[in-house]
Amino acid sequence: MLVYKTEEEIELIRASAKVLAQAHGEVASMIREGVSTRELDSRAEEFIRDHGGQPSFKGYNGFPFSLCISPNSVVVHGFPSDYTLKDGDIISVDGGVLLNGYHSDSAYTYSVGEVSSEVLALLESTKKSLYLGIEQAVAGNRLGDVGYAIQSFVEKRGYGVVRELVGHGVGQDLHESPQVPNYGKRGAGLKLQTGLVIAIEPMVNLGTKNVVQEADGWTIRTKDRKPSAHFEHTVVVRKEKAEILTSFEYIEKALQ
Ligand code: MG
Ligand code: MG
Repeated sequence: MLVYKTEEEIELIRASAKVLAQAHGEVASMIREGVSTRELDSRAEEFIRDHGGQPSFKGYNGFPFSLCISPNSVVVHGFPSDYTLKDGDIISVDGGVLLNGYHSDSAYTYSVGEVSSEVLALLESTKKSLYLGIEQAVAGNRLGDVGYAIQSFVEKRGYGVVRELVGHGVGQDLHESPQVPNYGKRGAGLKLQTGLVIAIEPMVNLGTKNVVQEADGWTIRTKDRKPSAHFEHTVVVRKEKAEILTSFEYIEKALQ
């Protein structure tokens, strides 16, 4: 079932997304060699709770943490742990906030210290593909237009687009209909209408598109163990231009 949101509901998601954006900024300010991924998770949880929210992921289908933190060849759903960031790592941080009954969801992939130009290009291209997907999320277009924009851009650069995990609707549930694949055919799939709130989240691999799940039942890793990047925004479909509800503003300020 598709749930189109009223402006009042979008306002509530925007408030949730603001706390999430600021929590991401807190995490961004801590990204450096030697910090453990558990410390990042604790800080995000503390910030979200201090601002009246709850971490959407904690307890979701039994997920034990507030953030998914996924280094290097981990694509998504990595567990925060005692792992400390190393020079040359990339690290995806995915978070969600539940505030006043509405969720928001966004992710950013950081580089730590000196990262190879090949991997930096993967990060740049994945982020760019997110915005190309968002450009297509306008009323009258179809979901396939979003997926096609992402897939065609990254595959041209020789990267693999993960098929097993996709974006999704966002609202009173963290994961709502529709599924929002990062691949697709132009003009195919659900016709987008104003008020649909979706998380668009390309997961892009340096090598093969294939992934494997680890024994913990969560961690998704690239099959060839090459690095993978992940960027995500929660957006609302509008007539002329999608409105991005989450933000990387606080992250980018912290990284300056
Ligand atoms: Mg997410
Ligand atoms: Mg998501």
